[in-house]
Amino acid sequence: MEFKKEYDLIVIGAGAAGIMAAITAAKDAKSVLLLEKLPQIGSKLKATGGGKCNLSNTLSNDDFISKFGKEGHFMQEALNAFDNNAMQDFFASIGVETHAPDGFRIFPISHNSQTIITALETEMQKLKITVLCSQRVKNIKQNGNIKEVNTQDKSFFPQNIIIATGGLGYPTLGAEGDGFEIAKALGHKITPLYPAMLPLKTKERWVQNCRSQTVAKAVLKVNIKKHQKLKAVGDLIFTKDGIRGPVVLDFARELTPLIELYGEVPLLVNFIKGRNEDEILKHLKNEASKNRSITSVEIISTLMPETLSNEICNLANIAPDSIFNKIEGSAKDTLIKLLAWTPLHIVGHDGFKNAMITRGGVDLKEVDPKTMQSKIAKGVYFCGEVLNLDGPCGGYNLQWSFASGYLAGKLKS
Ligand SMILES: Cc1cc2nc3c(=O)[nH]c(=O)nc-3n(C[C@H](O)[C@H](O)[C@H](O)COP(=O)(O)OP(=O)(O)OC[C@H]3O[C@@H](n4cnc5c(N)ncnc54)[C@H](O)[C@@H]3O)c2cc1C
Repeated sequence: MEFKKEYDLIVIGAGAAGIMAAITAAKDAKSVLLLEKLPQIGSKLKATGGGKCNLSNTLSNDDFISKFGKEGHFMQEALNAFDNNAMQDFFASIGVETHAPDGFRIFPISHNSQTIITALETEMQKLKITVLCSQRVKNIKQNGNIKEVNTQDKSFFPQNIIIATGGLGYPTLGAEGDGFEIAKALGHKITPLYPAMLPLKTKERWVQNCRSQTVAKAVLKVNIKKHQKLKAVGDLIFTKDGIRGPVVLDFARELTPLIELYGEVPLLVNFIKGRNEDEILKHLKNEASKNRSITSVEIISTLMPETLSNEICNLANIAPDSIFNKIEGSAKDTLIKLLAWTPLHIVGHDGFKNAMITRGGVDLKEVDPKTMQSKIAKGVYFCGEVLNLDGPCGGYNLQWSFASGYLAGKLKS
């Protein structure tokens, strides 16, 4: 393949953010080289949404931003420039219709991420963007206005550089933290990095007996005084050594830093859609009056899956096959307390290997949110997950990647 050495822009990393940046700059008549270390572009994009690619969601920009925590306001300009409507219009313009079948999550109508990648690839060809795969950027050097980008066997001299190398999660899909090293070498600070959006391991071994069991609308709260505001609600699934499911994936970003800090994180979990002790008592009394010989496990199973009911009996030191009406008042009190809040202790996770998102990244204080340009190195821009921003499940992270890629690709200074 023929390629030149000098470009208006080199984009490092062909994920959602980098591809969008490259397309935006090329549309503004810039000569663009996109460097990707894997043999193909968009590897992580392909895996998103279980291969269906949950591109974005239907929230207003303000609501969207509020889900990213205190750093969220950094996204305002990028979303003003490229929000969920702009995203849908853009994909329609390159032949990909999108929809939100549940009224919230936006997908390509094909529900196939390959449709997105093929359309982006075709658009890049049309715009004459040079894409070089299997090119791992080792470092970038800046000497006055002269910039040099070095891969394992090539050197290039662009006017501008966009770093879109992603985070550290799912390293097999390309992101291994190279961008953090490159940014550090330029003088950027990287905030502490934690795996987020991943299953968690519990100290309690009994969870394995409930493996694959799903509990809808579980309520989880951190049982540490200083962090008692941390709470989450959603569907939870037991695994052989812990918990997963949407609520766990979203809550993990809050918990992984605490695991590092405290070693283990005590949680209290309500498996019965948030019902309190009074409501539970009322429910049990009602069930017990309807069936005088109902067993303890049977009565608890009116509230939750039977395998979990068995474990709750064990935790309360009540024989599952005991007649509920015959158990002592104090044992009933213990049971009701346990039903309202079951303790679980989070003790670990599998690290970045299974983390869909990285918490932490290039410090936002050193990047201009109006342009995505580095405040330290002129002509160097960042976009996507390499920056210190992470959102929950539901199209948040791809919307952010595309939006920040769009703004960075404008090459405003
Ligand atoms: C399994 C999975 C499912 C997900 N599902 C969703 C979803 O449905 N919706 C959603 O919003 N988010 C989802 N996410 C999160 C979302 O995919 C990411 O936040 C987003 O793709 C990040 O885009 P990015 O372009 O910043 O980084 P990436 O997509 O990680 O792209 C970075 C690219 O840079 C390349 N690169 C890295 N270092 C170098 C180097 N030194 N030289 C050259 N190239 C380099 C990498 O190979 C990679 O291709 C999911 C994540 C995972 C892992």
